[in-house]
Amino acid sequence: MRPHFNLLLQQAFRGGCAALQTLGGLFFPPLCPGCLGDSAAAHALCAACQQRIAREVIEAPFCATCSRPFRGAEVGENLTAFVCAECRERRAPAFTHAVAGHLARGVVRELIHAFKYEGRFYLRRPLTDWLQVSLANDSRLRDFRPDALVAVPLHPRRQRARGYNQAAVLAALLGRHAGLPFFAHAVRRVRDTPTQTHLTREERIENLRGAFLVPPRKQVRIAGRRLLLLDDVFTTGSTVNACARALRDAGAAEVRVLAVARG
Ligand SMILES: [Zn+2]
Ligand SMILES: [Zn+2]
Repeated sequence: MRPHFNLLLQQAFRGGCAALQTLGGLFFPPLCPGCLGDSAAAHALCAACQQRIAREVIEAPFCATCSRPFRGAEVGENLTAFVCAECRERRAPAFTHAVAGHLARGVVRELIHAFKYEGRFYLRRPLTDWLQVSLANDSRLRDFRPDALVAVPLHPRRQRARGYNQAAVLAALLGRHAGLPFFAHAVRRVRDTPTQTHLTREERIENLRGAFLVPPRKQVRIAGRRLLLLDDVFTTGSTVNACARALRDAGAAEVRVLAVARG
């Protein structure tokens, strides 16, 4: 229990004055939010965790539409123009690009899981840092200049159980860091969809039909806007696509997707 308490305390001191923070540092040396071992600074991942995370970074070549990595590219091939077979088959996706900086494996998967299901809320900071790196560096987002951020919603029942929507928490924090407005509750999940992991892609699409809706009073904010849709993880892209579809149906000019990781 102590490491978690220590991290919560770091968080409390972070909001206070510098003298209090120094005092906090004396009694409670900074811990890595990844492994709960020693770290150089409060909320900073330790060198070992950073190394493990670096192994999951998605590097070219990957699908320009869904970020799926692929092997076997010829030298000199235009790597940014590649689109995977699944995206070619997908009937006109509602998003232009779905960007993820990492694969949802190993320590990346563990950190996202801990943030979502284990109440380790302070992990929003390193996860948002990764989103910010993608926003600044990925060629599909660098020049996009979205009008606003929106988040993939949870069904209200699920959100009540968890206490927060992890995608909205990340979107709000990223918005503050990047100076972009976050449209909270722009899209609602009107149908709770059972877990999709065992379904085929066709079944997922059917399962998600009509699951998302932009409330009529929100449509005026959405119409004509270029939106960046945030999620923690996408796998086949069916969920972000269904959500992007609802936003496009409400008049959004363009939707691109940014997630911490892809499955
Ligand atoms: Zn660590
Ligand atoms: Zn693809």
